[in-house]
Amino acid sequence: MAETLFTKIINRQIPADIVFEDNDLIAINDINPQAPVHILIIPKKVIPTINDLTEADMPLIGKMVFLAKKLAYEKGISSDGYRLVYNVNEGAGQTIFHLHLHLIGGRKMNWPPG
Ligand code: AMP
Repeated sequence: MAETLFTKIINRQIPADIVFEDNDLIAINDINPQAPVHILIIPKKVIPTINDLTEADMPLIGKMVFLAKKLAYEKGISSDGYRLVYNVNEGAGQTIFHLHLHLIGGRKMNWPPG
């Protein structure tokens, strides 16, 4: 599997503002935040997009969402509300083809998204 920007962050080849790490996941502050809280939750396993998930990845996706919930609580945005986003392919704005979940909050969110 080709190296991605996120693989380089995981391998400490390029720096990032890491807010959480365990054996399966890393979470970093987005370099171009769209809200006061904008964290990327990234599996260490390279999966390009949601389209590439297999049944075996189901626990990993659960872990990602559970970490999002935990970080939202820690950042104090649980009650007011926050958004979890997987952009899937170019048409939805995906630019890095290494799965990641955006945790966005700390301001009022509009619907529908742009
Ligand atoms: P997406 O457009 O869904 O693929 O999301 C990619 C996200 O990665 C964007 O929100 C970028 O701002 C963010 N990003 C790009 N490079 C970095 C970096 N070096 N460190 C942290 N976030 C990054």
